[in-house]
Amino acid sequence: MRPETLAVHAGAEPDAATGAVAPPIHLSTTFAHGPAGERVAGFEYVREGNPTQDRLEAALAALEGGAGALAFASGMAAISALLDGLPAGAEVLYPQDCYSGLRVLAHEFLPPRGLVARAVDATDPAAVRAALTPATRLLWLETPSNPQLRICDIAALSTLAHDHGVAVACDNTFATPLLQRPLALGADVVMHSTTKYLGGHSDALGGALVFARRDAWFDAVAHRRHLTGGVLAPFNAWLTLRGLRSLPARLAWHCRNARAVAEFLAGHPRVEAVHWPGLATHPNHAIAARQMRDFGGMLSVRIRGGRDTALAVAAKVRLFTNATSLGGCESLIEHRASVEGPNPVSPPNLLRLSVGLEHADDLIDDLRQALA
Ligand SMILES: *Cc1c(COP(=O)(O)O)cnc(C)c1O
Repeated sequence: MRPETLAVHAGAEPDAATGAVAPPIHLSTTFAHGPAGERVAGFEYVREGNPTQDRLEAALAALEGGAGALAFASGMAAISALLDGLPAGAEVLYPQDCYSGLRVLAHEFLPPRGLVARAVDATDPAAVRAALTPATRLLWLETPSNPQLRICDIAALSTLAHDHGVAVACDNTFATPLLQRPLALGADVVMHSTTKYLGGHSDALGGALVFARRDAWFDAVAHRRHLTGGVLAPFNAWLTLRGLRSLPARLAWHCRNARAVAEFLAGHPRVEAVHWPGLATHPNHAIAARQMRDFGGMLSVRIRGGRDTALAVAAKVRLFTNATSLGGCESLIEHRASVEGPNPVSPPNLLRLSVGLEHADDLIDDLRQALA
């Protein structure tokens, strides 16, 4: 089945007990069992699994073309669960431009555990090859990357990594499985912050890992989730499922609006650069066009003049809201360097835009007056 159909139907069977078409939310933390712990319907305690989460995991696995999915309390819980399973001494390579939370984990949390995490230019396969060592265990990819919308070649890097016995994980939050399917391109695991496009309404924190194979790695991460407890609440699983059903329709609109906004910004004299992989001027447009179905609703823009002029634009928007996060119905704007803590890495004149579902002309009018 095609992804549009899977988004509506995967994990959406009518409730067996009542025929309810909308899925029930099972909030119960515990499930009756027999006197010797015999399971009645496969469940025991909510931290291990629950029926609402099962539906979400079935839907995510189907959409990504994976063998199994694990839902987590947040995207960061999903990332941590994967990294925490690496043995001491292992090396992880991650992209120079990436979600700031991953960078902080790599700097602060991995070294005390005896792990080596190194940032590489993932847009350059030769740089990745040069960074591989016999201790490298995991290559982390994020494409398009947050916030500079860099593109890396998932297929080429997966082949390279596998030739060296290195596993590949790909953060697919910006693209979603509707635009890009990393497992089909060779990655071993896909990670999502479902908080963003999958939930789609800025009201449910969540994360997920989708595995190409249901193997010992999958079982180990599931066991880790059960024991360390970074699980998704059933209500958030339900909200995320609800969002997922309309993902294809929303995303088509996000992509269309982002194109209109990117083209407007690219032609504006106060704009130094627009980072959106759908523009032919994007340095990795050709790879994006090959591995993505469309280019997504996220873009970033660099304003001529520097930090102060960028901040002045962010202060002048009326329809865009200055806020972090992305992928909701409403358009958001954020000066990333201001929110990256004591050592910001984003260019000081960069604004990140999550282009929402409003009319594109209203968004452009707002940006035009803010840039005036
Ligand atoms: C938001 C985000 C994360 C972290 O997810 P949370 O749900 O906020 O924990 C990871 N990667 C990317 C690309 C993100 O945008």
